Amino acid sequence: MTTTTTERPLDTVADFPAIPDGWAYLDTAATSQKPKPVIDAITRGYDETYATVHRGVYQRSADMTLAYEAARSRVASFIGGKPDEIVFVRGATEGINLVAHSWVAQQLKTGDRILLSQLEHHSNIVPWQMAAERVGAAIDVIPLTEDHRIDLDAMAAMITREHKFVALAHVSNVLGSVLDAARATEIAHSVGAKILIDGCQSVPRMAVDVAAIDCDFYVFSGHKLYGPTGIGVLWGRGELLNQMPPYQGGGSMIDRVSFERSTYAPAPTRFEAGTPHIVGALGLHAAIDYVSGIGLDRIHAHEAALVADTRGALSHLNSVRVFGPVDSAGIVSFAMEGVHPHDIGTILDESRVAIRAGHHCAQPLMASLGVDATARVSFGVYNGLRDVEALVAGMERVKRIFG
Ligand code: PMP
Repeated sequence: MTTTTTERPLDTVADFPAIPDGWAYLDTAATSQKPKPVIDAITRGYDETYATVHRGVYQRSADMTLAYEAARSRVASFIGGKPDEIVFVRGATEGINLVAHSWVAQQLKTGDRILLSQLEHHSNIVPWQMAAERVGAAIDVIPLTEDHRIDLDAMAAMITREHKFVALAHVSNVLGSVLDAARATEIAHSVGAKILIDGCQSVPRMAVDVAAIDCDFYVFSGHKLYGPTGIGVLWGRGELLNQMPPYQGGGSMIDRVSFERSTYAPAPTRFEAGTPHIVGALGLHAAIDYVSGIGLDRIHAHEAALVADTRGALSHLNSVRVFGPVDSAGIVSFAMEGVHPHDIGTILDESRVAIRAGHHCAQPLMASLGVDATARVSFGVYNGLRDVEALVAGMERVKRIFG
């Protein structure tokens, strides 16, 4: 096959013990594989240094508390926030639900409006629907441009002072379309609305700076960033977080408790009820060190080259339709005429190529693309040209089987 780039800047596959030779793992948008330093940090956390955090009076617990809080500081420096603006959650889904529940419960009134886009993941749709139903608010949807980006001109034309909240994906999990998050924020703020950016697919593949974007909330999941499952991040402006009521009640999040009344700790503690995912935070810290060691700009360039190769190769196959903009970040969705994406996925699996097929938790997007499902490949730091070649060989087999 012809390639668009000759230089392959990364060769990290040896860091990933769960990727055997000859297996093309192309489902990083669902979850990434884990590098050895992350696995080691988790193992060390349980094998050597394990204890609870925040309440222990013994040295081991004090040390673990320092390590847990160091992870919080590392997340803050990674995305340009302050440590006390970092709330550890289970993942992006919980982060969005927290804001939809807590901010909306307090700030949104009947008749207010929420603005989402056509390409959102169900995690960035359903919590807002539930919140809107609770208070009698309405939801409006920003359409996509012809090349499948969130249409910010349309957003600017449709937003009104009734819109109190905007929630948008930084990178689409289906199309890889990259949002100009700073411009979207400017448009939201021009009518006084707050904005949450869903960074699930951006944080693993490009440098993110919440201060430069100037948004109000930013969420992402650790497991898509080469870290463990069960830990994710909600970043929020300190003054907003401290105005928001807790999402869950329990141990650790309080100031004082009596049967008459409880008062709450300041953020982020007020949002971390119960014993947290201590070792998950250590794993996330190691994951951030790992990607930072490679450099997010290099990762972005590496994945852009693989996307260009993939789009080029797929477009040479008759009857394949490739979705999304040409400069999509690390993710390519496609469909083949007359072949269900699940069949594509199953046949590729026989060739040891792992892709995702389905609606990708984005049914409204599928409806707007006029399909029920797509086949999706998504890249990570461990992928190389060999994986694109395996995909293309597998797709040629799909073509032969379906005639
Ligand atoms: N938003 C986007 C854009 C995603 O890709 C995902 C995961 N597929 C989520 C939200 C939800 O993430 P999680 O399941 O880790 O909470």
